[in-house]
Amino acid sequence: MSLMFGKMKTCNSADRSPAECNLVLLGVQGSGKSALTVKFLTKRFISEYDPHLEDVYSSEVVVDQQPVMVRVMDTFDQEGPVNSERYLSWANAFLVVYSIDSMESFKGSQLYLQILSLHNKTFRPRTPIILLGNKLDMDRYRQVSQCDGQALASRFGCLFFEVSACLDFMSVQHVFHEAVRRARSE
Ligand code: GDP
Ligand code: MG
Repeated sequence: MSLMFGKMKTCNSADRSPAECNLVLLGVQGSGKSALTVKFLTKRFISEYDPHLEDVYSSEVVVDQQPVMVRVMDTFDQEGPVNSERYLSWANAFLVVYSIDSMESFKGSQLYLQILSLHNKTFRPRTPIILLGNKLDMDRYRQVSQCDGQALASRFGCLFFEVSACLDFMSVQHVFHEAVRRARSE
């Protein structure tokens, strides 16, 4: 398997091989990284997923009429951001996930944003970041307002979405496609 570091590999017109895009999901345990990954790759919500599993999944998808080989790293950190080297230079875009029904997960997402923004200050090309409030279906237990999510995203210069891994596929797909678009334009 060939891995590109830094700049995303664009379509090779000679052999028609698809572009490649490495996406990394970060966030505290329980925020729904695995559920979102599975939803994007299979259109299904799997409610119980091994919480200690970290893996990279590949899938060829089409974004804006262009095929792209998307690799999704669904990370697992025991306690906060450690060993970030394993994804910092590998990623073409980051999705930092928190759960809207957990203030703790929102605070946890800030630690990831801090590390990523430090990385982006040092290395070029800058790697796009999307802040993602998950579990929108749990609105009645909401602890993090949409405004707080948006404000944090603006502070770190990232895009912001709220989704649910167990509701419609299209909004989850939209976020992953947006990550690919941002990676392409860097
Ligand atoms: P991870 O540790 O970040 O990978 O989180 P998981 O994907 O394992 O999800 C943690 C728990 O939250 C599991 O019990 C999931 O079923 C649940 N979960 C994940 N996404 C959602 C969601 O959008 N809505 C609801 N209600 N539960 C979710
Ligand atoms: Mg997981």
